[in-house]
Amino acid sequence: MHKPFFSDKYYKDSLDALTIALETAPAYRTWRQFDPGKDASIDDRYAAMPVLTKKDIREHFPGVVVPHGRSLTEGIENGEIEFVETSGTTAEKITNVWNQMWWNASEAASWKLNSHTAHLDHSFREAQLASALSVGFHSNDDLPMHARILNGRFLFLNEKMSAHEWTKAHYERMIRELDEFKPAVLEGNPSLLARLAWWAIDNNKSVYQPQVILFTYEFPSALHLQSLKQIFHVPMASSYGSTETGYVFMQCEHGIFHQNADFCRVDFEPLKDMYGRQDTGRILVTTFHNPWTSLIRFDVGDLVRLNDSYACSCGRKEGLMLRSIEGRTANATFTTSGRLITTKQLDDVLSKFNGLREYHLDQASQKEYNLKIIMQHKNDVIVKEIIREMHFLYGKDAAIKVEAVEDIMPASSGKYRRTWAHLKFDTKDLFS
Ligand SMILES: [Zn+2]
Repeated sequence: MHKPFFSDKYYKDSLDALTIALETAPAYRTWRQFDPGKDASIDDRYAAMPVLTKKDIREHFPGVVVPHGRSLTEGIENGEIEFVETSGTTAEKITNVWNQMWWNASEAASWKLNSHTAHLDHSFREAQLASALSVGFHSNDDLPMHARILNGRFLFLNEKMSAHEWTKAHYERMIRELDEFKPAVLEGNPSLLARLAWWAIDNNKSVYQPQVILFTYEFPSALHLQSLKQIFHVPMASSYGSTETGYVFMQCEHGIFHQNADFCRVDFEPLKDMYGRQDTGRILVTTFHNPWTSLIRFDVGDLVRLNDSYACSCGRKEGLMLRSIEGRTANATFTTSGRLITTKQLDDVLSKFNGLREYHLDQASQKEYNLKIIMQHKNDVIVKEIIREMHFLYGKDAAIKVEAVEDIMPASSGKYRRTWAHLKFDTKDLFS
């Protein structure tokens, strides 16, 4: 595998981020003891540092990751920052210091990494289809369109926590509002966008075509992409980041994920040999230039797979290149012999089946797998074939049950968790 290319500026930004954090942000005071010192290479200095987890931030908030002795109270009074709570389960939920200017700059830099978004700026109209727990306005009562528009340029198509609250009237409203608002960008959870696509397909409706569709917030299933391609004939790309880190990777027009190297450093740690592929691992993100937050080697909690070369047909050269985002580390499942299977690996198998729309796998024990599926039309042959394919993936001795269901509920965060092993494993022990 080739080594990735990084510019001199990237190394300077890496050095500055580490120096500022170690010298001025309280969270990293105890990290100084691990630093091999200024004579060591910057990569070696990073490699010697611990990993920052969501738990660390949650336990020590507020202020510990704020550099330069800044006062959060003053920042809030000046309107420079606000507190934002991330969605997710209680274990995942954390409060972040949110700096809109930095966020916008990180987003704009990520747009440069795809030719269909490179011309965008913050004057374009954007429609969002996401859980109200992730973004936008939440209301149990239906809100009129004008009450879901922010700053004249963001339209939130949904005000519910879960897509299960959508009725025929909501789907009709989404299609009507897209026509009226005419967004350049349609962004959202791929699972929610797919539900809009299913409804349009099943009811033979055509839908307004934005310039580009961006997936964010959750793992994009190839099944969703297939449904969306039936009604949207525009470029689609995944934008990968988190509330804590800003924009980290952007999928280019050739499908490769490029690192947003102007705004973050990414260190890759492969899975241990016993768990599988060397090209798959976690990413530890360090943010650049954020005056209000110093994140060093932050574990976002996702698995990624490196591209097998550091050349892409798009010609972009700098930074890590990923073939895929593989899903949450916590959502890993295991073969009967203990090898790790990412959500993406199962998704690759299931997305070969025509007419399959959605799935959820519970691994009940080391050898028991219960898969729920949603099909466009009932088909018993497919069920048998899925069981056969899953034996290839999980092991001949796997006990596999497949059940076709009408619908699958999202998690309490409003997002869908596609794979879940009910086994005790500590995600931090998976990596070398
Ligand atoms: Zn590319």
